[in-house]
Amino acid sequence: MNSDFLIIGGGVAGLSTAQRLLQQGAAVTVLERGKVGQEASWAGGGILSPLCPWNYPDVVTRLTARGADLFSAWTVELHAATGINPEYETSGMLVLPPFDAQAAEQWSEAHSAYSVHQVRATDHKLLTQGDALFLPEVAQVRNPRLMRALHQHVKSLGGKIIEQCAVSDIVVENGRVQTLTTSSGKFHAQGYIVTAGAWSKEVLGINALRLNIKPMRGQMLLFKFDVPPLRHIVLQDDLYLIPRRDGHLLVGSTMEDVGFDQRTTSEARDMLWQRAQKILPSLRDIPLVQHWAGLRPASPHNIPTIGRHPKLDNLYINSGHFRYGVTMAPASAEILLNEIAGVQHPFDVTPYRAGWGI
Ligand SMILES: Cc1cc2nc3c(=O)[nH]c(=O)nc-3n(C[C@H](O)[C@H](O)[C@H](O)COP(=O)(O)OP(=O)(O)OC[C@H]3O[C@@H](n4cnc5c(N)ncnc54)[C@H](O)[C@@H]3O)c2cc1C
Repeated sequence: MNSDFLIIGGGVAGLSTAQRLLQQGAAVTVLERGKVGQEASWAGGGILSPLCPWNYPDVVTRLTARGADLFSAWTVELHAATGINPEYETSGMLVLPPFDAQAAEQWSEAHSAYSVHQVRATDHKLLTQGDALFLPEVAQVRNPRLMRALHQHVKSLGGKIIEQCAVSDIVVENGRVQTLTTSSGKFHAQGYIVTAGAWSKEVLGINALRLNIKPMRGQMLLFKFDVPPLRHIVLQDDLYLIPRRDGHLLVGSTMEDVGFDQRTTSEARDMLWQRAQKILPSLRDIPLVQHWAGLRPASPHNIPTIGRHPKLDNLYINSGHFRYGVTMAPASAEILLNEIAGVQHPFDVTPYRAGWGI
């Protein structure tokens, strides 16, 4: 690919796009307002699946399924290239009641690659009665490690990463983006890609048209056990417990429509901790290691916007992945690269162009 690109935002969307462009021979510079990989992509849980896939439209599960399919090979590639192991693991996900068993069964029948089994939750030594669902194919990854590996790989492929560089204006003339105004001066390229997560609409300014991406805060708790207290990810309603190999356990998360406020609250901490204790009573005696909040790039129906701007030829977006931006990252980068190169897509991508609202 004989062209150069400026990518605005160094989260998982920006760095995965940068990686693939670099591998196709493009020259790429990532402009990051703070430090790369420190926002939503750091804060997330790293579950590589929608929480209850049967609750989402096919447009969402098509992209998460494609992402999940690509993930294992992607992490092997990153580990081999950088020595940093993102700890991809097919840990499976146990869904505790209440849930819509009929919807789950129908979804499983319609998506043959993914199975859903009824199991006894008590088999898993959890304080819950009744049947649970088990999704054995669900995998997880450790976000901070994934981001470190991606960062290093992008640099080793020749990508330029400029941190502490906030884009404040996209300068348009004659139907094309001409330059970016930033806190570190002006930047110019042939193509421009917005991957600024929850801030994408603000970065685009008047060029956002009717794009509806907004921040949605999620708070998360981290605990440390001597040995992993669970074998699988455990989900009940919208509360999940994610066991890491080394005994760390994540508990998440909230969905709070509070604008760009990234503070944590004691109310959320107490609520998450108490609900998690009902599932795993030993959490009562374990000290809290860390409590943080991140801003998801929320889009209507969880459908991201990926592709070329409808009016500006050399402007692209890969953003608005809401709850599943890590899972969707490799598939979203694939779609954007196909769009830039004019290559056929693996499936119908028109729904991911609809976010512009025109
Ligand atoms: C608590 C929580 C739990 C989650 N759990 C999961 C999960 O289990 N599985 C899953 O798949 N997804 C999960 N997600 C969602 C996922 O983390 C996000 O969808 C994904 O990280 C979004 O990636 P991004 O690169 O678009 O955004 P970000 O990671 O937020 O990156 C955007 C970057 O753009 C930069 N930026 C912003 N404005 C500017 C500017 N003006 N100039 C330059 N740079 C700028 C920011 O500093 C930031 O680094 C979770 C999210 C949260 C918060």
